[in-house]
Amino acid sequence: MSNHDALAERFGTPTYVYDLDVTAQARDQLFALLPDGFGLYYALKANPHPEIARELREGGCRAEISSTGELANALRAGFCPEHILYTGPGKTDGELDAAISAGVRLFSVESYTDLQHVGSVAQRHGTTARCLLRVNTTQGSASTGIRMMGRPSQFGIDAETLPSLMPAFKAVAGVRVVGAHFFTMSNAQDEDALLGEYEFVLQSAAQLRQEAGLPLELLDIGGGFSSPYAVPGARTDYPKLRVGLTQLLDLYLPQWRTGEIELACESGRYLSGSCGTLLAGVVNVKESRGSRFVILDAGINVVGGLSGIGRLLPAAVGIEQAGQEPGHLVGPLCTPGDSLAKAAKLPELAPGDLVTVPNVGAYGVTASLLSFLGRPAPTEVVLRGGDVVSVSRLDYQRAYEVSP
Ligand SMILES: *Cc1c(COP(=O)(O)O)cnc(C)c1O
Repeated sequence: MSNHDALAERFGTPTYVYDLDVTAQARDQLFALLPDGFGLYYALKANPHPEIARELREGGCRAEISSTGELANALRAGFCPEHILYTGPGKTDGELDAAISAGVRLFSVESYTDLQHVGSVAQRHGTTARCLLRVNTTQGSASTGIRMMGRPSQFGIDAETLPSLMPAFKAVAGVRVVGAHFFTMSNAQDEDALLGEYEFVLQSAAQLRQEAGLPLELLDIGGGFSSPYAVPGARTDYPKLRVGLTQLLDLYLPQWRTGEIELACESGRYLSGSCGTLLAGVVNVKESRGSRFVILDAGINVVGGLSGIGRLLPAAVGIEQAGQEPGHLVGPLCTPGDSLAKAAKLPELAPGDLVTVPNVGAYGVTASLLSFLGRPAPTEVVLRGGDVVSVSRLDYQRAYEVSP
């Protein structure tokens, strides 16, 4: 009996299994790809599970959050408030209150009014917040990944407006502008495209420093590191990144060598994607007009939820069980959108069989349509050295039990 079979027997399905040994490998690999001294923010959006966040923290990561829930998970994972970066285009009064009360002092702001908002809450708490201006760059060189910038956007301050706005930014009370935050691409499999994007970012940052007086005590150059999602495969290796990025820094921002400019980047999927495997059970197999449908107990309520609403990710889950029989892999929900893989090559499968979906440690549970159709959330089991160290399940259904 394989370890996965044993875990499925013990904890039932659907169950996510997170292997912290793999989390640590991914973390150490990403640090090794970066020039020495780079800070690395873990975007809890990818997976806020405190055990995963703790494993990343223990290896030197900081936390990037954008809600009170993520704040609670980051604190539970042991991050000290000084190592938390708060981001997002819609920070509410209540969220800012909670973050500043908890000691968070570093914010990425997306507009002049966002900066004023952070400043007024900081003042109310008798403190000063350090702010990074998130920059909406004018254009980019990326040929892969999701382009985030260069268009009208709720994210970032339009780069071309910075020279005229900078005096006003610097005059806002309750905040000190300490640097810049770029996030221009996601999931870049092509190393040259990633380096090209960083070149553009570093060039833009240097130019804004020169022409607009943009402070660069801390420069967060973004991320873009790629890791397979819900299909077998290894994390992307970037053999030229460390040397290439060092050369770009020496060219555009030589002050990085003296420590005058602190550098950071950020990642969600690279750090937590590969540590997670979904164990799903086959509930039924049916034939319809010549097609085989394999119906699982996990659908877009458990994995790939964002793709269920037609956004961001193709619904094309790949299971580890190899086979040659065509079939559609579907979930249990009452919507034709609950499809995990169309016309996939599957093995013989029967009710009660186990299928495993690899590389779902990021954008799994919390990025899915968890409460749609009211099924319980999947169990989440955390392993270290092959031993179970934590078992939990989000209990969203209790929300209805709270009376006003
Ligand atoms: C979503 C997000 C990330 C994480 O993206 P990955 O593709 O998971 O690495 C990092 N930074 C920002 C600002 C984000 O919005």
